[in-house]
Amino acid sequence: MNGPAPIEVLRQHLIDPEICIRCNTCEETCPIDAITHDSNNYVVDAEVCNGCMACVPPCPTGAIDNWRTVLKAEAYGIEEQFTWDALPAQGTAASAALDTLAQQTALEGNSAAITAGIKDDESEGPDVDTTRGSTVPPWSAAKPYVNLYTHKAPVVATVAGNYRVTDETAESDIHHIVLDFGALPFPVLEGQSIGILPPGATKDGKLHHARQYSIASPRDGERKGYNNVSLTVKRVTRDHHGDAAHGVCSNYLCDLKKGDHVQVIGPFGSTFLMPNHPDSHLLMICTGTGSAPMRAMTEYRRRRRLKGATGKLMLFFGARTREELPYFGPLTNLPKDFIDTTLAFSRTPGEPKRYVQDAMRERAADVAQLLRDANTYLYVCGLKGMEEGVLQTLRDIAGQHGLAWDTLWPRLVREGRLHLETY
Ligand code: FAD
Repeated sequence: MNGPAPIEVLRQHLIDPEICIRCNTCEETCPIDAITHDSNNYVVDAEVCNGCMACVPPCPTGAIDNWRTVLKAEAYGIEEQFTWDALPAQGTAASAALDTLAQQTALEGNSAAITAGIKDDESEGPDVDTTRGSTVPPWSAAKPYVNLYTHKAPVVATVAGNYRVTDETAESDIHHIVLDFGALPFPVLEGQSIGILPPGATKDGKLHHARQYSIASPRDGERKGYNNVSLTVKRVTRDHHGDAAHGVCSNYLCDLKKGDHVQVIGPFGSTFLMPNHPDSHLLMICTGTGSAPMRAMTEYRRRRRLKGATGKLMLFFGARTREELPYFGPLTNLPKDFIDTTLAFSRTPGEPKRYVQDAMRERAADVAQLLRDANTYLYVCGLKGMEEGVLQTLRDIAGQHGLAWDTLWPRLVREGRLHLETY
């Protein structure tokens, strides 16, 4: 005699829309395209997700790490998830599912009715995807605080300064913005980011979602000993295709005046962090506002150098022109024995295009020497388009200098020594 059909219970993977900052990291990381988004939410397709956990460590906020036990037949569909402003309450679906399961188990006198889809917290750890950057921090990194402030309870910061750091003649308008938290705790580390909640609403009446910005100042404050952070923000006036666009948050930030108040969430990020051991070397490769975390790390090292940090700093920094390079003056004034900087400009009139990859190739012997050293940590930050070219250049340089990139790359990733942040 046939018994009742087995009840299938699923531990469904969901993204918390209240914490998610829509940074796209999860969608990019998912190896099987189970994550998608609309203008409202990022969601996980239960029919595709296999619970591999690859997306969990890179998520800067932890919004990705949410699970609900549901009857498989009643799993939340992606259309339903797109409409959510908050996750469904924990327990409702789970207890209904488990109650039904308990009833069936009692009826059948066996406990083998769960047939699919449950992945325990104790299951094996996340697979390290060695074809991308590290999802673990350097071993000596300080422990970061994350998510101290959320969409529901943001902190209000006061603008302590806002000035342009690209030449007045340049098309690219990049601002250095200092936010002060007064007496409210906002502990940060170099490499972390914060979320800004721009005021106002979208055309369909929803509040704007938060935009993420890298912190450009060291952990002890833009001004040492003050409870403040700085950002490097590029005013978005064109979209990625070059058509006219008015970036909601970047324009809001670039127009702020001293004394204005800003709603901030975060901090975010627990892997793109700098090593704390003083003899570690930093190899930093960036373009445009990707210089923000490099500025934070460099300034922390500069302050620490006075206390005996000995590791080398090597920086490759690209922009279209010298005028468009943020912080050009202060950067070029740093002592040569403190930081080895090579600039690359891709649109200098009358000169051939030169990208960061070209500059790296010119300095290949020095790059290879750093790659050979187990104390070297690599950071790549800037426009998405740079990532592939930079990784290919590292591969080429390694190959030319007798280093097997196919062995070195996974090792760097596993050891928290290759950090990529492109947007
Ligand atoms: P939106 O209103 O969101 O977009 C307007 C239009 O412009 C849209 O069509 C959009 O597709 C397009 N667009 C969005 N961003 C860009 C861009 N950068 N270039 C060209 N077109 C664009 N930005 C910084 O300025 N400094 C930082 O330090 C920084 N750090 C970041 C760190 C992380 C981890 C991430 C994920 C992003 C970071 N960003 C940074 C980008 C930032 O979060 C915003 O995406 C950016 O400021 C645009 O937001 P917006 O509200 O002004 O534009």
